[in-house]
Amino acid sequence: MSTLLYCATTNPGKLFEFRHAAEHLGAGLFTIEPLPGLKGYEPPEETGETFVDNAMLKATYYSQFTDELLFAEDSGLMVDALDGAPGVHSARFSGLGDKANNALLLERLKGVPQRTARYKCVIALMRKGQLLGTFEGAVEGEIIDNERGTNGFGYDPMFYCPAFGCTFGEATPEMKLQVSHRGEATEKMLAWLRQR
Ligand code: IMP
Repeated sequence: MSTLLYCATTNPGKLFEFRHAAEHLGAGLFTIEPLPGLKGYEPPEETGETFVDNAMLKATYYSQFTDELLFAEDSGLMVDALDGAPGVHSARFSGLGDKANNALLLERLKGVPQRTARYKCVIALMRKGQLLGTFEGAVEGEIIDNERGTNGFGYDPMFYCPAFGCTFGEATPEMKLQVSHRGEATEKMLAWLRQR
């Protein structure tokens, strides 16, 4: 029998990757569904200073709406030349959405030789408001000076992955899953659940 996990994200790119990860890494044991009615709930303000803080804050808030297992995730891009920005502010970097975020990042890095960066992801898993665990993942890369590819979401067209020699925007979902921050964190959560 498959274990149901509710996911508290309204980001379609994230939801796709969680479900894709569960299909490929979960041995058919897990079904990930968006929390029913999610879009009707006023989202909590992400006031945390770390990915862990924000993942826990979101999971705690959304967990009140279900008795099932529920997870929330916080993730973002940390650019070394920008002292770790946009970090926890990745989704709201420009305040104007993904396209403008990407343009702002390219602008901030214009002429900057140091391009190293990493994506981080933290998942908080709860049941009925009780924290069961947090699971983390990270992937190293470089920010190139243009956008390449249309796969993935957010900053992916500028996130060059040395292991593949292309951006996450050019990588297939299967490739991204193999190395990504979200793939790693999801794999850890599913492994933990399988050991229970
Ligand atoms: P939040 O976790 O909802 O605060 O938003 C995370 C933000 O980080 C996303 O909106 C993206 O801007 C960025 N981000 C996190 N993971 C990825 C990824 O895998 N690809 C591209 N952008 C990402």
